[in-house]
Amino acid sequence: MKLANLRGRAVLVLDDGLVDIDEASGGEFGPAVHGVLNDWDCFVAWCDGARHQWSAVSVAEPVFDAVVPRPGQVFAVGLNYRAHAIEAGLPIPEVPLVFTKFPSSIAAPQGDLELPTDQVDWEVELALVVGREARKVSQDQAWSHVAGVTAAQDFSARDVQLLGGAKPQFSLGKSFESFTPLGPVLVTPDEYDDPDAIEVSCAINGETVQSSSTADLIFPVSAIVSYLSHIVTLRPGDVILTGTPSGVGLGMTPPRYLVPGDEVTTYVAGVGRMTHVCRAPEHAFDAVALLA
Ligand code: ZN
Repeated sequence: MKLANLRGRAVLVLDDGLVDIDEASGGEFGPAVHGVLNDWDCFVAWCDGARHQWSAVSVAEPVFDAVVPRPGQVFAVGLNYRAHAIEAGLPIPEVPLVFTKFPSSIAAPQGDLELPTDQVDWEVELALVVGREARKVSQDQAWSHVAGVTAAQDFSARDVQLLGGAKPQFSLGKSFESFTPLGPVLVTPDEYDDPDAIEVSCAINGETVQSSSTADLIFPVSAIVSYLSHIVTLRPGDVILTGTPSGVGLGMTPPRYLVPGDEVTTYVAGVGRMTHVCRAPEHAFDAVALLA
């Protein structure tokens, strides 16, 4: 099953068009994606029974919003691909390195990306969306708490991320406006032959810079969900970014960062593409001037 967010309303994305979930279910599920996620088990059961009654409305090139526009919590895992840890010059982690991206950084799967500094980098990631509350779940149970997967970018202002020297500011450096686009659709795990081997890639102006598979994750989905759930309660609608493969700008010699006019294409197999065009800010971010 594929779900999306069309102007605030949850829709099923079928081969021949879209189905408004609130309308099709007589108001039982929705109208927003959060309403569907909050009642995920019942929704999935309803889908199995109601599928033959759906009549899709064909929409030419629908423009979707962030598939989960206001998650309660957004987690991200750092250095979760071996080659990326090596390019960052850091040791392979022994436990998941977890930080947050603040929910106000969530953005649509297409549009402009304002570059607040001249060191904004790209990171394609597979994102998980929680569909069933998870508290101290085993790795075996972990996937059953995931409603689906989507594509994410973990845009990162490297200069701000590394402010503070020994105590870098990951969460702030990765949470500028629009730094966490999500979408275009949420895909349930059963749509994949192997949900632990999903292709992810990123291209800048058509040139592929990152290309890998989640089969290469150091900590796979089951480990991340189980581990987090032993510390926090994961609730429906929470989002987890699983890490980025090698090929980020920081790892290049010399480092390469996004410049106004660059087009970033983010791809996750089964989910599709997100496209963002970079533009200059009205006012660049300057920590020293702000604090003077
Ligand atoms: Zn990341």
